[in-house]
Amino acid sequence: MSGYLKDLISEVKAKNPAEPEFHQAVEEVTDSLEKVLEIHPEYRAASILERIIEPERVISFRVPWINDQGEVKVNRGYRIEMNSAIGPYKGGIRFHPSVTLGSLKFLAFEQTFKNALTTLPMGGGKGGSDFDPRGKSDGEVMRFCQSFMCELFRHIGPSTDVPAGDIGVGAREIGYMFGMYKKLRNEFTGVLTGKGLNWGGSLVRPEATGYGVVYFASEMLQTRGLSFEGKTVAVSGFGNVAWGAVTKATELGAKVVTISGPDGYIFDPEGINGEKIKFMLEMRARGKDMVKDYADKYNVEYFPGKRPWEVKVDIALPCAIQNELNEDDAKNLINNGCICVCEGANMPCTPQAVHLIQISGLLYSPGKASNAGGVAVSGLEMAQNSMRYNWTRDEVDNRLKLIMHSIHKACTETAERYGAKGNYVTGANITGFLKVANAMMDQGIV
Ligand code: GLU
Repeated sequence: MSGYLKDLISEVKAKNPAEPEFHQAVEEVTDSLEKVLEIHPEYRAASILERIIEPERVISFRVPWINDQGEVKVNRGYRIEMNSAIGPYKGGIRFHPSVTLGSLKFLAFEQTFKNALTTLPMGGGKGGSDFDPRGKSDGEVMRFCQSFMCELFRHIGPSTDVPAGDIGVGAREIGYMFGMYKKLRNEFTGVLTGKGLNWGGSLVRPEATGYGVVYFASEMLQTRGLSFEGKTVAVSGFGNVAWGAVTKATELGAKVVTISGPDGYIFDPEGINGEKIKFMLEMRARGKDMVKDYADKYNVEYFPGKRPWEVKVDIALPCAIQNELNEDDAKNLINNGCICVCEGANMPCTPQAVHLIQISGLLYSPGKASNAGGVAVSGLEMAQNSMRYNWTRDEVDNRLKLIMHSIHKACTETAERYGAKGNYVTGANITGFLKVANAMMDQGIV
């Protein structure tokens, strides 16, 4: 790495202490940009990278709410408005105890590049709270969401910042937040995506992230003349992304043998299919955040406290959370003959794991490319809201497929152009960076 980039990373670490995930995400991107900055000295002269790293705006606020026992609880809420060079800030809201300023900055940074890759006009943002939805009643979740929106509403809008779901935020939470926004603004607009179908939502949005991951992995496999047909797949997580990925991989003829939760993973040698896929939704709705129930119901093996990467599979789709697949997990996958690791979550593989997977010649895609289907269909939801019209399921699904195909094409072509054939990390980072950087250059020093 050049002295300039090394200094930049040191500065990021010094200026943003205690934000390890943010450092990790910035390092991963800058690692890919050496050549681009060499060829385009104008970016360095305009301090584009320094500006991309610094959020345009960080909002932090108090979220007080009353639990079912009548006690007053306080959580912290955030919205990171990272970059608006190519469109309004866009990105999910995460409710999870692991949420910190640093973890949201990493997610907002990733989102900026991901959204640029979708080909749609969306800037980057992310928000959330350290609120833990586990075990909370419906009333508690509603009161929390309403309180959260009582502050957030003044910072967002359909042409300013359009939040959506993420871990811990699904259709129910989007509904409660939308209701409060509408009441406060007296306005029915597409201010959030992931809305209910009968009040402005888009068909295929719930499935979009997981479907997109499988569409992207199919494109990757195709470069080696392979497909999902007859392959064994390990999926981690059992939330929205995992559900969509299991559904589509199964539909394409693969056998998905694992899903996981914070409690451990289950191994179903017959494959998670049919009614069992529906049961994933039921488990999620129970709000316990554990997969053991699947093992109890279908009488399959359950491995408490473990992750699914020790199972022998052809394809691994990490769809849970950041840094859930480490170097040892990567070794297991490689030794077991895995051919493809395609990220459904944001940054689920540690840098050491990514390095090992890449030098071992496996197909590997970073989440910012392969999980972009979710936000892409959010972009399509925004387009439908603007037109006050709804597309059919096929229309949306075909556009999603086309977008995943375009992202794959852009990544492979850019990687090759910059002398890193087959490297999806380089391809995704450079493609996303160029789009945002060029827009920033056009718009002056703002
Ligand atoms: N949270 C999702 C992501 O990480 C979706 C964001 C959106 O739809 O705005 O990309």
